[in-house]
Amino acid sequence: MGKRQGLATRCVHAGDRSDAFGSPHTPVYNTTTFRYPSTDALLDVVEGRAEGALYTRFGANPSVRSLEAKLAALEDAEAALAFTAGMGAESSLFFAHGREGIVCIGDAYGGTLELLTDQLPRLGMDTHLLWETEPVALRAQLEERLAAGARLVFLETPTNPSLEVYDIAEISEVAHAYGALVAVDNTFATPVNQNPLGLGADLVMHSATKYLGGHSDLTAGAVMGPAALLEPVAAWRKSLGQVPAPETATLLSRSLATLPLRVERQNATAGVLARSLAEHPRVARALYPGLAQFPGHSLAARQMTGFGGMVTFEVADADAAAVVDRLRLFAIAPSLGGVESLATQPVTTTHHGLSGESQRRLGITPAMVRLSVGLEDPEDLLADLEQALE
Ligand SMILES: *Cc1c(COP(=O)(O)O)cnc(C)c1O
Repeated sequence: MGKRQGLATRCVHAGDRSDAFGSPHTPVYNTTTFRYPSTDALLDVVEGRAEGALYTRFGANPSVRSLEAKLAALEDAEAALAFTAGMGAESSLFFAHGREGIVCIGDAYGGTLELLTDQLPRLGMDTHLLWETEPVALRAQLEERLAAGARLVFLETPTNPSLEVYDIAEISEVAHAYGALVAVDNTFATPVNQNPLGLGADLVMHSATKYLGGHSDLTAGAVMGPAALLEPVAAWRKSLGQVPAPETATLLSRSLATLPLRVERQNATAGVLARSLAEHPRVARALYPGLAQFPGHSLAARQMTGFGGMVTFEVADADAAAVVDRLRLFAIAPSLGGVESLATQPVTTTHHGLSGESQRRLGITPAMVRLSVGLEDPEDLLADLEQALE
């Protein structure tokens, strides 16, 4: 093929299988089982001598396989597995690779924290959360956990909602010195802005419900990485019944074709909003990795190719809920990554269940508003924020 194709080209073409009628994209294979011309032909597939699908839950449905080829191409991975949800991807990943102990760095998604602090420990799994943000102290704490036997390091970067940035290359180097694997939740960054495998991580996971799906109309997840590391993850997916429906797989493949276009626009608009909010007299603080004054900016500039579509700010001397309630274009809703702009307060949604002390430790304040920037005209979004802050 010669020179490696660009991301946009891969998003459009990777994984596509034409059919007998010349459909330019993989059709929806709404089928649970697959028939064979003979017992021998069936046995060839059962015994691995020939490629073929047996049963959709086992994962070889052509709509799902086609999606997985696109997902792998997005993250420059050897292989990918599609899931019913981001949490499905995460639980299979943890069961497959976390049984000797998991270290989670930084503020992870609420569902991830529930798994790690409540559900997995009840199964006897050893899990540790490291909240340290100062790199030297973090490295020391991580080495201590790895020396104690943990074999999977999990992190999100940038984090929700503070958009803190962690050094994937350095963390991977430390983990690998102890023979541990590193898995990165790349949901916030998207493969357009960050390629964890290229920075040294072993596995990547996504809530495809967010930017990959991009239209707030599907729930799905993904894990990408070397085929050998995905094999035990696929076994858990099969037993837990987490293969996505063919319709969802096809809808997600359709969405991926426009991922680079959407994310590039979201990056640009988020930058405009963040710069404007940072200067606004009614805003105490704007958090965005693309702002030169943001603490994680230089690291983000090194490991990311775009700064993302999420912006967080703190309202000065005003009731943040009243500001959010005055927004007309931004909808009050959890979730993120869709074509429509959303606004939430972490204290009423993602971090609602946490104690005041935990919120303070994570830097979550009642004045904080998190924006998921959509595809509307930047001037309209800016005008909406300005009237709400007045
Ligand atoms: C939403 C989300 C998840 C969970 O994904 P679901 O598709 O809702 O199961 C995991 N990680 C991050 C960062 C998320 O935003």
